[in-house]
Amino acid sequence: MSSNNYEDMLEGAYKKLPEIRDIKTRFEVPKVRGHIQGNTTIISNFHQIAQTFNRPVEHMFKFILKELATPGDLKKNGIIFGAKVPASRINEKIEKYAVEYVFCEECGKPETKLIREGTYLFKKCLACGVKLCINAKR
Ligand SMILES: [Zn+2]
Repeated sequence: MSSNNYEDMLEGAYKKLPEIRDIKTRFEVPKVRGHIQGNTTIISNFHQIAQTFNRPVEHMFKFILKELATPGDLKKNGIIFGAKVPASRINEKIEKYAVEYVFCEECGKPETKLIREGTYLFKKCLACGVKLCINAKR
């Protein structure tokens, strides 16, 4: 690899950073509340977080389970993971969910909705009107 390519790569990495930082300052991603009980982790405000994002709780739940690679149960008033999971790891995944499925990549606002068209899933921003396909990369 030449040094030029390496610099280009670094520049690319720097370009991406400010966007995510901007998004975080404009809208605070809620943090999970919960506790560890024996070998399980109980999260009590999962539904509220999904509500804040205006997303179906099952959708966020499936994403988090897959990301954490941990078994879990969706209950009426929370979720139970079948393992000890630090809150920081769950918060990280919720932020990832928010960036992928909630925040508009154009204006950074969380007022988006998901639209399914055939096998494609789009994230449409209600604030600026941008529509992005979000399942092509998965
Ligand atoms: Zn937007």
